[in-house]
Amino acid sequence: MKTEIATSSFRGRFIRAKRYIEEGEVVAFHTETVYGLGANAFSDEAVQKIFALKGRPADNPLIVHVHQEYDISPLIDSEPPYAGALRKAFLPGPLTMVYPSTGKVSKYVSCGLNTLAIRVPSSPTAQAFLKAVNLPIAAPSANLSKHVSPVTARHVFEDFNEKIPLILDGGACSGGIESTVLDCTGEVPQILREGLVTREMIAAVAGDCKLYHAAAGERPKSPGMAYKHYSPRCRTAYFTETEAAKAAYHEEKEAGGTPCILCDSGAAAQLGGYEVLELGGTGEVMAQRLYALLRRGEKIATLLIGIEPQEREGCMAGVLNRMRRAFGAEHGTEES
Ligand code: AMP
Ligand code: MG
Repeated sequence: MKTEIATSSFRGRFIRAKRYIEEGEVVAFHTETVYGLGANAFSDEAVQKIFALKGRPADNPLIVHVHQEYDISPLIDSEPPYAGALRKAFLPGPLTMVYPSTGKVSKYVSCGLNTLAIRVPSSPTAQAFLKAVNLPIAAPSANLSKHVSPVTARHVFEDFNEKIPLILDGGACSGGIESTVLDCTGEVPQILREGLVTREMIAAVAGDCKLYHAAAGERPKSPGMAYKHYSPRCRTAYFTETEAAKAAYHEEKEAGGTPCILCDSGAAAQLGGYEVLELGGTGEVMAQRLYALLRRGEKIATLLIGIEPQEREGCMAGVLNRMRRAFGAEHGTEES
């Protein structure tokens, strides 16, 4: 199958995408977080295709994406009083809300959970696509399972060339890390995955917001978070001190390798003469650059060395979580 990258100059690209979706095909599309790999959420076969294409574990549920005017009430069983205020404050945008499900979409979407995760992306490309199809679109990130999430159409192409018919190109993703996943089934909202919409931002609207940690032995509420994720395809090392990173760099160089250091601007300023990928200084900039730099790093380095950024404000909790996972410094069970 030929994989077409359709930019905005491709006339009729949303009509084309609608036809593929109606035929049960999988279409990749730009969002403001990362690119998604979408299929009709009502179709068992189409949803199963996503899992097969990615090599995604069968117990890791998908987020359903809808247009901002799509009526989600048939899909959800109930909602807490704070849900409306959160939607008004943050949607369309990088916040996924988890509701009790009515079970109307394919059972493969939620992988046996009685909840449904719904997101309304703000990307104009995603909105136009979702409006054209007028269906809930189940979509995980458009990368092979375990690989770094894609933030350009080219990244999607690298993982799925000849496997999917169409990539709706909306340029580089402005957000850069996956959406915040928020459990809205309880009295107080609970973050299952940190992202660009922070705990403070949610608490300011909902009155309170908890952060979920899976207890030992328990099936995690957000199964995806238990897996090793976002890994670059080269050896990695992770340090909190610049001096230790320098030592690892020299060792790799002496062994004949090509090391590269991924770090914030503060550390980069102390690394003149070293091969450096600079993340930036603020949470927003680091989120935007992280995945593109990880994908760049795996291409140029035999050893990619991460230095933990100093910044702690804003969306840094989400950035640090992704970065530590990418470098194997914080992860749960390996995928089976
Ligand atoms: P991805 O789209 O690849 O970034 O993964 C989607 C994330 O959303 C994973 O971490 C899933 O575990 C999580 N997720 C999807 N549906 C649900 C749900 N019904 N309840 C809790 N977490 C979910
Ligand atoms: Mg993913």
